[in-house]
Amino acid sequence: MDKLIITAALTGGIHGKEANPALPEQPDEIIREAVRCHEAGAAVVHLHARDRSGKGVADARIFREMNDGIRSRCGVIIQNTTGGPGLPIDKRITSLDASPEMASLNMGSVVFFHQGKELPFINLRSEIEAFASAMLERKIKPEMEVYNPSMFGEVENLIKHDLLSRPYYINFVMGVGGMGGYPGTIKGLVQMIEHLPPGAVFNVSGIGRAQLPMNTMAILAGGHARTGLEDCVMYRRGEPAKSNAQLVERVVRLARELGREVATADEARNILGMG
Ligand code: ZN
Repeated sequence: MDKLIITAALTGGIHGKEANPALPEQPDEIIREAVRCHEAGAAVVHLHARDRSGKGVADARIFREMNDGIRSRCGVIIQNTTGGPGLPIDKRITSLDASPEMASLNMGSVVFFHQGKELPFINLRSEIEAFASAMLERKIKPEMEVYNPSMFGEVENLIKHDLLSRPYYINFVMGVGGMGGYPGTIKGLVQMIEHLPPGAVFNVSGIGRAQLPMNTMAILAGGHARTGLEDCVMYRRGEPAKSNAQLVERVVRLARELGREVATADEARNILGMG
């Protein structure tokens, strides 16, 4: 098995400090958390931008401020989101202007349920192709976010149109509570793995209570693991996480106990065929 690539999803764009005051919202907080997570063992940080009020926005200027701040302090791989429910599609692509090494690429549509509301997150095939094409042109590695097995059809479509370079990096986002989500269970994970195309490397994200079991199963199954306050604000039932770094430290401990070494950022670049 390759060494384990740990991604820390620091902030997200849906819930904020109301869910956990330790969740970083502003660029200076996010830069600090990125450095701490890198020191704790994360090779990749996944970033969203938020405005002064803490609301998720697609603003290249804020992405650039965070990316520059992190780069001047450490060599962690920066992955900017191109997602965010409710944000206009033409704005979402502007995070690429902040020159991340990697960017998320959502491979289909889902509807999130959040605080009793439905949050549609629409990604059309033409939009996925346009995002993939822009990333290929700028040599930004796409992290393809697949929420359920039907989205592998879009992975195949990008391969067919020569819009991806190998290895294909696919993140299973498991346990999303909404339409189009897929259960964060052993069975769900095995089904996702069975759909992987040849030449793919996979990562697993578990949303909410699925985070810890999915992290553990990913380590055992030869995938990579994403943790962080974007996906789950709790450390365990009834106990909020103290920081993103605390969640990264736990994944590092699990990997060590299970006999899997943790990749540095440069080792992760090699595994993912970046630069
Ligand atoms: Zn995200």
